[in-house]
Amino acid sequence: MKITRLEPFILHAPVTRGGIADSTHSLTHWGAPGVAIHTDAGLTGYGFSGTHAHLATDRLIADCILNSYGPLLLGEDPGEVRALWEKLHKHSPIYWVGRSGITHLALGAIDIALWDLKAKEAGLPLWKLLGGSAAKRVEAYNTDGGWLNWPLETMVSDCKRLIEEEGYRAVKLKVGGPSPNEDLKRVEAVRRALGPSIRIMTDANGRWSLPQAIQTAGRLVDFDVTWIEEPIYFDDVEGHRRLAETIRTPIALGEQLYTASHFRDFIHAGAVHYVQPDAVRLAGITEFWQVAEMAYGSSLPVAPHVGDMAQVHQHLCFAHPACSLLEYIPWLRDWMEHPAHIEDGYYVAPEAPGAGTTPTRRALEEINRI
Ligand SMILES: [Mg+2]
Repeated sequence: MKITRLEPFILHAPVTRGGIADSTHSLTHWGAPGVAIHTDAGLTGYGFSGTHAHLATDRLIADCILNSYGPLLLGEDPGEVRALWEKLHKHSPIYWVGRSGITHLALGAIDIALWDLKAKEAGLPLWKLLGGSAAKRVEAYNTDGGWLNWPLETMVSDCKRLIEEEGYRAVKLKVGGPSPNEDLKRVEAVRRALGPSIRIMTDANGRWSLPQAIQTAGRLVDFDVTWIEEPIYFDDVEGHRRLAETIRTPIALGEQLYTASHFRDFIHAGAVHYVQPDAVRLAGITEFWQVAEMAYGSSLPVAPHVGDMAQVHQHLCFAHPACSLLEYIPWLRDWMEHPAHIEDGYYVAPEAPGAGTTPTRRALEEINRI
């Protein structure tokens, strides 16, 4: 099988209630700039990144896919995924201008499309190709009830609905608002409403300074939260290490880290407890696997961030022994051929061949901004 053509796309899917916010970001659409990789066998692989749907930036990613990496892929055998990843990753005119950022996101989308093709060619869902088991339990935690722009009552009632009507046993709440007391009040209200057996994750999206984090995150232990995510600035290894030594609540991070070597620095420093790689922020599934292996070897659980809205990560969680807990956000649910499916708080192992990344025809027509 040979690669014959690359066809970029830019999907912009509306988010819940027209707009969400955390302490650092606010957005109205989720972006999925990506690529269809066509072959002479008639099979097509799909891969995409995850963005805040900023069209000018998404166009840079799509352009990088088509015009920087594209010529390196034409005529190649897409089954040689790891060799192609090495070839693209080490292509000096591209890494010279970016070993992270746009070039990395573009490479991630391509790598995912190649794995999608490989699984489709084998006639297997990706998790099966990677040696996973359908008997494995992959718990879902839902982030879509805890946005910082939801009024307190809305957040409490959304979280109650997710638990009582949709069967989740874990939810994530955004913190890092202007008032630490208000943050703590919101977490306390949800804990009181959900009771002691439900898991609550908290996420400050890199907002706090180290002393703010020591003070506010230090008090989260009163509400038995599972973790505090991105308490301080994303890249600060030493700050997270010092915080981890100071507070009792475990630290989760990784959604803003682009490379496996950056994860290595956090893991070796003892600056992270729950490792959160994202295959669409790293250079795809190939680099995600490197991070998951590293975490597993350090006895750290991997709870991926879902820039892909879990379409790919559900497969990776059924396949990798470090993963048993996976975020869920529903924004691509209506736009994928085989949307991730959760029953009674657990992911159902997908059966369709591929990586779960094939958009519907309607998505490619209605929300494609290419
Ligand atoms: Mg987060």
